[in-house]
Amino acid sequence: MLIVMELTATPDQIHHVVRQVENRGYTAKKIPGGERVSIGVLNNKGAVEKALFMGLSGVKEVIPVTRAYKQVSREFQPEDTVITVGDAVFADGHFPIIAGPCAIESVEQALTIAQAVRAAGAVLFRGGAYKPRTSPYSFQGMGLDGLKILAKVREKTGLAVTTEVMDLETFDAVEEHADILQIGTRNMQNFSLLKRAGKARKPIMLKRGMAATIDEWLMAAEYILAGGNTQVILCERGVRTFVNHSRNTLDISAIPVVQKESHLPIIIDPSHAAGRRDQVLQLSRAAAAAEANGIMVEVHHDPDNAASDGAQSLYPEQFEILCRQVRAVFCSYEHTGA
Ligand code: PEP
Ligand code: MN
Repeated sequence: MLIVMELTATPDQIHHVVRQVENRGYTAKKIPGGERVSIGVLNNKGAVEKALFMGLSGVKEVIPVTRAYKQVSREFQPEDTVITVGDAVFADGHFPIIAGPCAIESVEQALTIAQAVRAAGAVLFRGGAYKPRTSPYSFQGMGLDGLKILAKVREKTGLAVTTEVMDLETFDAVEEHADILQIGTRNMQNFSLLKRAGKARKPIMLKRGMAATIDEWLMAAEYILAGGNTQVILCERGVRTFVNHSRNTLDISAIPVVQKESHLPIIIDPSHAAGRRDQVLQLSRAAAAAEANGIMVEVHHDPDNAASDGAQSLYPEQFEILCRQVRAVFCSYEHTGA
């Protein structure tokens, strides 16, 4: 339930409503809006009696939140959540491009790619240090050494960095080194990891589970917000379908649906959706046309010898074309918002 205060509500009136909510045994969460303050009522087991709060002074209206997810819903927070990390702004009419290799392989590899993607227009660098691989015999990532390389990339290029956090054991180290922590598709419903992410002091990029509905995905995000971390960026990276012409099927319709249901930004990962580089440019343009809040693209200077996901990694020259075209698409329409 959401208690919307009058524009003219005084701090005392707001405080009084918060006290009344807490006296009933619920949690009150103040949501500062553009103009007026709202108070979310959380931790209620059953329905909350609207009349309890309707008559309090300074209260404009009391709105039931009908969705199972509360804090991530637009009913709860009508304004977009805008997340700023380094030069990247997610939402508010921006279209940040994140790029880098699937995995960090060496200092030289990371710096070569980071410099190329930065020159082309990327504002954030990606690179896996802990890799969730289907086979236990495949390259598992450089671990802590990979994190240190990411920190070096930030130092040398000024780009903020994002990398995947796979488990609780390595969470602290990833949180220390990365600017955005990625939770991968295979871990979208790893509830211990989500709870820990709720305590993190860095933004979380939550990828959609490869067979997750949008409701399940938003409920996973709810875990992070419920834990206290409101900085969540959703990432659609393709879902499993019957087709074999691409690795996954990019669900473009997730963009308008998520933006209607939630105030959180949503970006697209065309690389893991396609699984092959000859579709990445088209899917990236589509993401911009559908008003996503950014994209994350895999790029490698030597994809034939990449330790992972070489087939879907763009050459730096292709990435440069992508940046130009995507910007052109993005700038070609009026941004309507959700
Ligand atoms: C990745 O971004 O490198 C990755 C493993 O992605 P996903 O979790 O979407 O497969
Ligand atoms: Mn990859």
